[in-house]
Amino acid sequence: MSAGGPPDPSRIRNFSIIAHIDHGKSTLADRLLERTGTVDPRKMSAQIMDSMELEKERGITIKAKAVRMLHTGPDGKEYILNLIDTPGHVDFSYEVSRALAACEGALLVVDATQGVEAQTLANADLAQALDLKLVPVINKIDLPSSDVEAVEEQIFEVLKILEDTVHISAKDGKGVDGVFQALRERIPPPRGSVDKPLAALVFDSLYDPYRGVVLYIRVVDGALKKGQKVRFYSKSEQILSVEEVGYLTPKQTPSDALYAGEVGYLVGGLKDIHEVRVGDTIMEVGRELPAALPGYKEAKCVVFAGVFPVNPADYGSLKKALEKLNLEDSSFNYQVETSQALGFGFRLGFLGLLHMDIVKERLQREFDLNLIVTSPNVVFRVQPKGAGPEDWLVLDNPAKFPHYGDIEAIEEPFVHVTIVLPVRFQEPVITLLKERRGVHRSIEYVSGERMIVRFDVPLSEIVLDFYDRLKSVSKGYASFDYQPAGYQTSDLVKLEILIHAEGVDALSQIVHKDKAYAMGKALCEKLKELIPRQGFEVAVQASVHGRIIARESIPAMRKDVLAKCYGGDITRKRKLLEKQKEGKRKAKLLGSVEIPQEAFLAVLKINQ
Ligand code: GDP
Ligand code: MG
Repeated sequence: MSAGGPPDPSRIRNFSIIAHIDHGKSTLADRLLERTGTVDPRKMSAQIMDSMELEKERGITIKAKAVRMLHTGPDGKEYILNLIDTPGHVDFSYEVSRALAACEGALLVVDATQGVEAQTLANADLAQALDLKLVPVINKIDLPSSDVEAVEEQIFEVLKILEDTVHISAKDGKGVDGVFQALRERIPPPRGSVDKPLAALVFDSLYDPYRGVVLYIRVVDGALKKGQKVRFYSKSEQILSVEEVGYLTPKQTPSDALYAGEVGYLVGGLKDIHEVRVGDTIMEVGRELPAALPGYKEAKCVVFAGVFPVNPADYGSLKKALEKLNLEDSSFNYQVETSQALGFGFRLGFLGLLHMDIVKERLQREFDLNLIVTSPNVVFRVQPKGAGPEDWLVLDNPAKFPHYGDIEAIEEPFVHVTIVLPVRFQEPVITLLKERRGVHRSIEYVSGERMIVRFDVPLSEIVLDFYDRLKSVSKGYASFDYQPAGYQTSDLVKLEILIHAEGVDALSQIVHKDKAYAMGKALCEKLKELIPRQGFEVAVQASVHGRIIARESIPAMRKDVLAKCYGGDITRKRKLLEKQKEGKRKAKLLGSVEIPQEAFLAVLKINQ
């Protein structure tokens, strides 16, 4: 490649690999990197695109990344192949859509032994909506249980893709030449123009403690050069000076400029990752664009949970850890929360359940914190009595709900759920969906004795162990994906727990009316087990709208720890008294009742 000057756009291919988890995306990426000599084979570790420890463990890609490969075609000429990686999980579907928006095409990898799964469908839908050229690739043809024909039929039938399929084994490399051929011949080259004003799409960002924020960008039109002054479309008051641009090979390799059609990175002196929004457009100062590149949206947190240190003295360390982690992952948010029961902590917002798990694990692993995480809840919309349409309250914490007498209506978020499963598991899967208040949308039977089931389900029913239950009732054969489907009114109530006639906020939950009784009963029974006897009888009650729906009582105890000590062994007596004091310190005194921390924890987990 000659240095300087824009590359010939007809020699550029920007593409992504999309697949259901475990269908071979990372393995195929490794083969492409290897064949193009992008990575020294001696330095090649398996699954090079998944660099975080957690990513490798879970087999998912958390952050989108990009790599530029040089490939020599049969005519001896060089092609620039930009592989833009996407996070492979629904929680990050906005990031997936921005990464795809930076591409002209995608390789859709389907496992020849599994066929089309829920994430294959979701990813293909996203790519088709963005008008990407899809090249279907059937992988793992080396396995004896592969059934290429059935999978081919599914791709045609379910995804309506009429393209020829490429058959490969990403593991042993068979057929991978056909992938390169498809990239050259089937994926269109970028269409932008170097002469137009600069328009670049930010598809990801990364925080580097030494260099500040690094933006991953696709230049759509114009050129981005060192020394240029640029600004974001959404925050036009802020001006950045381009300190460095370059390619990802995969390491950052500086170049003089990035031209229309190219993919690379930009360092512009930004120190705070919160100033960058994925999906934003970069334009040149003085040649501003009349409109942003399409599709920009703010990623919203949909799942919330309280996070508290087990040891209250760790509050400061938790705060520092959150600040630090948030520099790298700006998509979760946090605010201080005080709980009657769990003390000082934070309420965190996440893009989804997996995102929550990742943040939780990183806090525990990378910062060595011992944490209590409450059961997750969604964001409710509450209409106060007599309030207008603009005065709805948006609540992410059940404890903040107004008194039931002041509530006109409650709305909760729903999702479109897509499940792909073998027909033999139809019954238990549909039963599960109905238990979770799911509303039927469609059922489609496809080849290979499989079916696609679509339901609308409240998100709150998904955040509690839905995935585990689905896996269990389908013996691991059902795959699942979901998309936000807006808010709907539901018959929701606040289930309150009273201990010795006193309401305990940390134990209150928002539940569907039909489930309140069973849940209230279960909570009372559990608490009865866990709260030690007091010197008086203690009532444990569940109430909805001021009406008691369940009740247990903990009988009084004659509280005499020394009763067991006959005779005068004073040291033993002292020990017992000290032990009792210790127990008191761990427990929370609510009104006149001590509630041990385990009681709160057990209750927070009761619905999981
Ligand atoms: P990803 O989740 O889509 O990134 O999938 P991976 O690339 O991590 O592959 C999942 C598993 O399938 C790994 O254990 C791979 O070694 C294996 N695998 C990937 N491609 C092939 C293939 O062509 N043949 C066989 N036999 N195994 C494969
Ligand atoms: Mg992978």
